[in-house]
Amino acid sequence: MSDCLFCRILAKELPAEILYENEHAVAVLDINPIHFGHALIVPRAHCKDFLELPKESFHNILDAAQIVAKALVQSFHLQGYNLFTNNGRIAGQSVFHFHLHITPRYANDNIQFVLKLKQYPDGELHRTAALIKQNITTS
Ligand SMILES: [Zn+2]
Repeated sequence: MSDCLFCRILAKELPAEILYENEHAVAVLDINPIHFGHALIVPRAHCKDFLELPKESFHNILDAAQIVAKALVQSFHLQGYNLFTNNGRIAGQSVFHFHLHITPRYANDNIQFVLKLKQYPDGELHRTAALIKQNITTS
């Protein structure tokens, strides 16, 4: 038996409200939602984070996300929603099986991603881009 919560849900060892399934992904309701209807898109293959996500599942995951987002908009008459994924403990990841959150948003719901935006000093924008570009690999 796996000790991964999502693998156990996918193996039907634990109950979940499944909203939608396709070949590579399953959409379930988050049991601790930001708002009711907060859904998770979970790949069927165990992978701890975005970097381990199998490329063959990309299309199915985004397809499931769009289908579920449309259903959330329709179900709750949403004017907005967030899609996000936490990767690594310091980024807020608590279940180490990749998942994409989709959560409804409402006016004045007091949920904020508090961002302190920075300014690049002269030349730093280009140096930062150069650093990242030298580490871009496509294989
Ligand atoms: Zn897993």
